[in-house]
Amino acid sequence: MSEKAAKKHEFQAEVKQVLDIVINSLYTDKEVFIRELVSNASDALEKLRYLQLTEKEVFDEELPLEINISTDDKENTITIEDHGIGMTRDELTKNLGTIAHSGSKAFLNAVKKGGEVDQNLIGQFGVGFYSVFMVAKSVEVYTHNWKKTAKSLLWKSDGSGTFEIESAKGVRRGTKVVVHLKEEDKEFSNTERVKHILMHYSSFVQFPIKLNGKQINNILPIWMRNKNEIKDEEYTEFYRFQANAFDEPYYRMHFSSDAPIEINALVFVPEHNPEQLGFGKVDPGVSLYCKKILIDSKPEGLLPDWMRFLKGVVDSADLPLNISRETMQDSALANKIGQVITGRFIKLLEDESKKDSEKYKEFYQNFSIFIKEGVAADFKNRDKLAKLLRYESSATEKGEFATLDEYVSRMKEEQKEIYYLFAPNREAIDGGPHLEAFKAQGIEVLYLYEPVDEFVMSSLMKYADKDLVSADNSDIELEEISSNKKRDLLSDKDIDTLCEWIKETLGESVNDVSVSKRLVDSPVIALNADKVMTPSMRRMMKAMKQDMNTQNSVNLEINPAHELIKNLSALKDKDADTAKLVTEQILDNALIAAGYLEDPREMVSRVYKILERVSQK
Ligand code: ADP
Ligand code: MG
Repeated sequence: MSEKAAKKHEFQAEVKQVLDIVINSLYTDKEVFIRELVSNASDALEKLRYLQLTEKEVFDEELPLEINISTDDKENTITIEDHGIGMTRDELTKNLGTIAHSGSKAFLNAVKKGGEVDQNLIGQFGVGFYSVFMVAKSVEVYTHNWKKTAKSLLWKSDGSGTFEIESAKGVRRGTKVVVHLKEEDKEFSNTERVKHILMHYSSFVQFPIKLNGKQINNILPIWMRNKNEIKDEEYTEFYRFQANAFDEPYYRMHFSSDAPIEINALVFVPEHNPEQLGFGKVDPGVSLYCKKILIDSKPEGLLPDWMRFLKGVVDSADLPLNISRETMQDSALANKIGQVITGRFIKLLEDESKKDSEKYKEFYQNFSIFIKEGVAADFKNRDKLAKLLRYESSATEKGEFATLDEYVSRMKEEQKEIYYLFAPNREAIDGGPHLEAFKAQGIEVLYLYEPVDEFVMSSLMKYADKDLVSADNSDIELEEISSNKKRDLLSDKDIDTLCEWIKETLGESVNDVSVSKRLVDSPVIALNADKVMTPSMRRMMKAMKQDMNTQNSVNLEINPAHELIKNLSALKDKDADTAKLVTEQILDNALIAAGYLEDPREMVSRVYKILERVSQK
């Protein structure tokens, strides 16, 4: 087939699905197609501006970097033209015929799952270009790639399953999208209507937007402007534009500094945590600019990984303009910039938490996972980040948080360590045996509800020079609880014999059996004998790696004042067989109370045996 003839292509199956949804289900907010096309034009111009820094040979060199929009209410068209990088034949096929982004697949999944289509999803998932078919009966895309050797091309489609690409004549550099509107969507060829939409969505585009020849936007970027002159609504609009989002920014940080590095930064915490929506790990969201020129929209390594939930812009005039995306990561300057932003941001959170702790609490509920990740992985900022952690504790009400600083300020004079306990919820800790001794002695214990918290504690290791220690650790030296001394106990000799006997009976299942100083009401307690690996960490490791040795190392402590223990001491001499059953069951109960038991099935049959014996009597 000759180059000149139109060549017909099928849209990829996923695109057909997207188009089908776009054409048949999306009736409101049709105007977003303008934002999508303008944002593509703006992307293409930013890419060209970046290229111009390094490439000498650019086609149509003299063309201005601007976006021209024209409306024709006789022909019923709207045309959006840019002089950006344009597309080659391959790029046309790939970019406008397939879905290259994982985001679009996520869009489809979300749509299929929910049944109902959320208009707001379109832009967020990068199905941007296809949104034009909400209003178009057909679309023509004229394009010429930036290379001098490239060809003039025309892409055409009515959105019904196929598109054509043919050669064109005399196309200038960039891309021109001609939208032939459906009769019912005539309004988008009306200049006033389009102007209104552009003012709303596109006031932050970095390039002049001309509507029928007249420039309609202010191109001084918001992050370069004086904060005092910027209204909250403008910030919100910018956030939405830049992040392709629809929520309100939750916190905002806008600052400029001159020394030691010149930085203008505008950074937002979104209202919602995108990773909570189940779309996996997000890309970095703070773009890097140099003197208003976009260097990298998702710079890996500029900010620590845990800050990827932030949106916004960092502009530094000190970066060399031709810094490549690859060398950016190694650049000492980029590192410095990252550190400045990180330091300021942590400070912002600290200040905000003091200013309005309820507001911070809500933030924390949505985003704590990132802070925790930071504590575990961002070595440089670990100590500062630890101040941002919040936990319930034995000294707080349910739903109220303590900071580590508050904990430290409440520590008893002789107390040297910070204690925590992990369990799925407050009730499990309050009702469990591990808290008893701490409660009796008025020592505060932090409550950890998520497995990741244990990782956080073990990576942090110390806070304010105090070791962080799990309260179920058998090494903890606790004072004997004073009221325990007056109790009616087994004799020392009986205790020793009983401990020996239990250890022998349980064999490998326990590391050691001893008498406990920390128990008040419970007959036994299982303590973790492995300093490094907690049982729940072990469980997590096992979930990741099947062949992991899962044997927990457990010390069992018995309460010599408890009736059950006293009875057991007598029973072992009268009916060793039943005593063995009871002992095994006591261990399992202790493991359950500690949250250590992994497979309760064996226990069920044992309980039946015990019940059988009891019911005989
Ligand atoms: P996204 O903008 O999120 O990548 P779109 O569906 O809006 O998704 O666009 C798909 C791709 O088509 C873009 O990534 C880009 O490569 C290409 N494209 C769209 N419009 C233009 C344009 N005006 N100039 C150059 N390339 C474009
Ligand atoms: Mg787009």
